[in-house]
Amino acid sequence: MDIRTRAVHVSNEPSGGAGASRPLSVPLVQSSAFAFDSADALAEAMSGPDGQYVYSRRGNPTVRALERTVADLEGGAAAIAFASGMGAISGVLLALLKPGDHVIAQRCLYGGTYAVLSDLAARYGVDVDLVAGDDVEEFAGLVRPRTRLLFLETIANPTGQVPDLDGLLAAARGRGVVSVVDNSLASPVLCRPIEHGADVVVHSSTKYLAGHSDVLGGVAVFAEDGLRREVWPRTVELGAAADPFAAWLTLRGLPTLPLRMRQHCANAELLAGRLSGHPAVTAVHWPWLAGHPSYPVARKVLAGGGGMVSFELAGGRAAGRAFIERVRLAQLALSLGGVETLVTHPASTSHRELDAAALAAAGIGAGTVRMSVGIEHADDLWADIDRALCDANVAGQSERWAIEA
Ligand code: PLP
Repeated sequence: MDIRTRAVHVSNEPSGGAGASRPLSVPLVQSSAFAFDSADALAEAMSGPDGQYVYSRRGNPTVRALERTVADLEGGAAAIAFASGMGAISGVLLALLKPGDHVIAQRCLYGGTYAVLSDLAARYGVDVDLVAGDDVEEFAGLVRPRTRLLFLETIANPTGQVPDLDGLLAAARGRGVVSVVDNSLASPVLCRPIEHGADVVVHSSTKYLAGHSDVLGGVAVFAEDGLRREVWPRTVELGAAADPFAAWLTLRGLPTLPLRMRQHCANAELLAGRLSGHPAVTAVHWPWLAGHPSYPVARKVLAGGGGMVSFELAGGRAAGRAFIERVRLAQLALSLGGVETLVTHPASTSHRELDAAALAAAGIGAGTVRMSVGIEHADDLWADIDRALCDANVAGQSERWAIEA
């Protein structure tokens, strides 16, 4: 069935026997533990990830409903939900990697992921190589016997870079390298990396999946259940389990995901086009905009350009800073993927873990502005942006003139 139908019919456990009624929405089971009558049944329930519920760090009915729903939307076999996107990323990396292992990752990644990889390299003896993401030969040339994992983002935050998913995922699979794709910015509506050959898809469900800026969460979806079984015990040790209420809020957001993504993409397209023609703007990064370096691959692997638009202002860092403080409808806040439009300055916030050289290598400018385009009316957004751009450009210019003087 189409994803618009599957998103509405979220997974719900059958309750009662034949003929019994059942709740239409997924019940919130806000319980940390589950009571048993039999000691043997309790002991038996501790044996794996799928038995009876024992303790909510190991499994919970509301959380499991979220896991089944996201696994289905991503076309995976099974999933594990986490307390945050970073919980999912750290959980998967810590579960799959050992000292001496080698990881190949895309150069332009979310700053938190970059920080975990740097930490694994500095403190846990994991070797990390970074690649551009558009060159299968570069990846293949770096693979060695201890190469365990390839890490990519479907739409990289904040450059909008889309890696050569088909080429890289096939090359990884052919060499026995486990591939992990962060699909937070595309969501399964725009891309399902497992269909392109990924082994694991990770999400910050804080973003588009939940969609309302009111919950933190993460999900890892596995193409094969065997990999989930390998990862699950480590994640129980890590303890970054999803809280049932957070899972419930995320389930509450999922049925409208396809509708929201359509509006995010339509608004982003309109704003990316208008920004490109604005005299205060020197570059716009949106993967479905002709001229973006990833345009050909983005048209192939994405069903829409996504809701994140980044851009550079003629006035550089000062103008970027002035702009994010001058917008009124769009708000200055760190997250993305919610119904409201947000702006931020990646170099000093989401990507602050990258030094100047790493920022430049990842294609992130000192003045890059990232906009998470919401679902408001695009004309209202444009009026706000246009006014702030004019003010910011004046402010940027005068600040620059002051420095030069
Ligand atoms: N992955 C991407 C692409 C992100 O943008 C973020 C957060 O901004 C994360 C992962 C981390 O997610 P969370 O904040 O839910 O831990």
